[in-house]
Amino acid sequence: MIIAIDGPSGAGKSTVAKAVAKKLGFSCLDTGAMYRAVAWQAMQSGVPLDDDAALGRVARDFDIEFGHVEGDPVPRRVSIGGVDVTDAIRTAEIDRAVSPVSAAPSVRAALVDQQRRIGRAGDYVVEGRDIGTVVFPEAEVKVFLTASDEERAHRRVRQNVDRGVGSIDYDEVLADLRRRDEHDSSRATSPLRPADDAVRLDSTDRYIEDVIDQICSAARGAEGAGAANDRGGTSER
Ligand code: C5P
Repeated sequence: MIIAIDGPSGAGKSTVAKAVAKKLGFSCLDTGAMYRAVAWQAMQSGVPLDDDAALGRVARDFDIEFGHVEGDPVPRRVSIGGVDVTDAIRTAEIDRAVSPVSAAPSVRAALVDQQRRIGRAGDYVVEGRDIGTVVFPEAEVKVFLTASDEERAHRRVRQNVDRGVGSIDYDEVLADLRRRDEHDSSRATSPLRPADDAVRLDSTDRYIEDVIDQICSAARGAEGAGAANDRGGTSER
């Protein structure tokens, strides 16, 4: 089963996706980390951020891998070309570089391919911007998670403080979120938008546990419906 969680930056996708995966025993894929890793590698390799073909080569040639910290079933480390970039991809510099990189059609083609290969290997919670619309339009559960701009900026600042990386200036973080939302929503290839059949959840005034439980219930419902369809299919044969 695929659970697709899309939405703008800082809406709580990562927290929710990891918790849902843990509760249901699913794997978890953070596609934003893949775009960030390609942006990091492009900068390391001196690739101009407006060179679609060269960016596409970076996305194809450097392996992106997710790693586990001992005892934690959810992957929390990411590497590209064998270099651990878990913290390096969370800086303000990468926040800025990732928009042009993720708008490059060759990068999207390469990463969407990889995401489909990974997700089809098992039960996955996949988070991003285009998971329900482009990567897995057939996902059994689709969620579009939002929150107010101000709430998202507050959460991102708290997250950056905890991680010890990225800007902790509220105004700077708010401006960056708005800039990336605008960029992600207006780009020609796979813009950020809810799938027609996505459940829209606003997490601004809700406990995050509540959101997590709602998605788990939807997944159990979808699983039940799938099993019933399978039984129906068998009895007709
Ligand atoms: O989710 P996160 O904020 O880490 O994503 C970083 C950037 O990667 C986003 O601002 C967006 O430009 C891009 N992205 C994307 N498609 C996805 C996931 C992320 O374009 N599926």
